[in-house]
Amino acid sequence: MIQDIFPKIYDNNYYPEKEPDDNAVCMIFKENNVVVAHDESKGVKYIPQESASSLEMDVPAGDISFPVYGQIKEYVGEYRYLFSVGDEEYYLVTHYKGECEPDWTEMGYVYEHYKALRHASPKYKVFALMTAYHLHCWYRDNTFCGRCGERMFHDTRLRALRCPECGGIVFPRISPAVIVGVHDGERLLMTKYNGRDYKGYALIAGFVEIGESAEDTVRREVFEEVGVHVKNVTYYGSQPWGMDGSFLLGYYAQLDGAAGINMDREELSMADWYTPQEITVQDDDISLTSRMIYNWKLHIAQGD
Ligand SMILES: [Zn+2]
Repeated sequence: MIQDIFPKIYDNNYYPEKEPDDNAVCMIFKENNVVVAHDESKGVKYIPQESASSLEMDVPAGDISFPVYGQIKEYVGEYRYLFSVGDEEYYLVTHYKGECEPDWTEMGYVYEHYKALRHASPKYKVFALMTAYHLHCWYRDNTFCGRCGERMFHDTRLRALRCPECGGIVFPRISPAVIVGVHDGERLLMTKYNGRDYKGYALIAGFVEIGESAEDTVRREVFEEVGVHVKNVTYYGSQPWGMDGSFLLGYYAQLDGAAGINMDREELSMADWYTPQEITVQDDDISLTSRMIYNWKLHIAQGD
């Protein structure tokens, strides 16, 4: 999955005093786009349609890279240390000196939608990008205190923002959600979303609401989306999913009662039962969804 970057190690300790050296990786976002360079020499990567979004059609097979501090330091006004991956330290560039932006094209970089890079290489840089994007959104959306409107400042020890006026403190926001592999012993319930960029197969999914356990969310979401009841809810695994600011908890659940589907047409464009032979989804080594579909086909359906 996207967070499986061994032998690289992700270190999310916050070091407020850290300053970038010339090799520090600079993450620069504008709306949904990130400054990135592609090695175009290796052609285009094949992305299976079962796990693609409409933004991901022509991802170069060569490595991606982001600007480093040494290239752009004369432009960098304000920055924030994010994390390290292996020996690479990542910084968020938040302001340019005099609002003067580097000429990215001249330097071989482009702005590209962050979601278009999900299948890019190397994987650890994609993980770093999605994690940096999550932090970027949190910083961007918490410039001002949500309680009193004052400008926030960064805590001097923790990854947290504080309000000088009312004392409010805001920690990074992560939205928990569940992914559910509903099966009846012989078939897995797969879906497709309605009106989203991602056109591949999915499983039932939804955000945990206030006051719910994750298992409650599983039962509620399955009934809301496809109108069936489930039992024997069992935990499979989890995944940080920074591109949506969420944290995914994967569960399998057994059909309890009738298998007739009553689909929520606002959420889904398709929902149906599939035997292992009918499932073409491969583990894309990125998403928990593809891992769970493939794991069901390979192990659970075989009674492992
Ligand atoms: Zn305040």
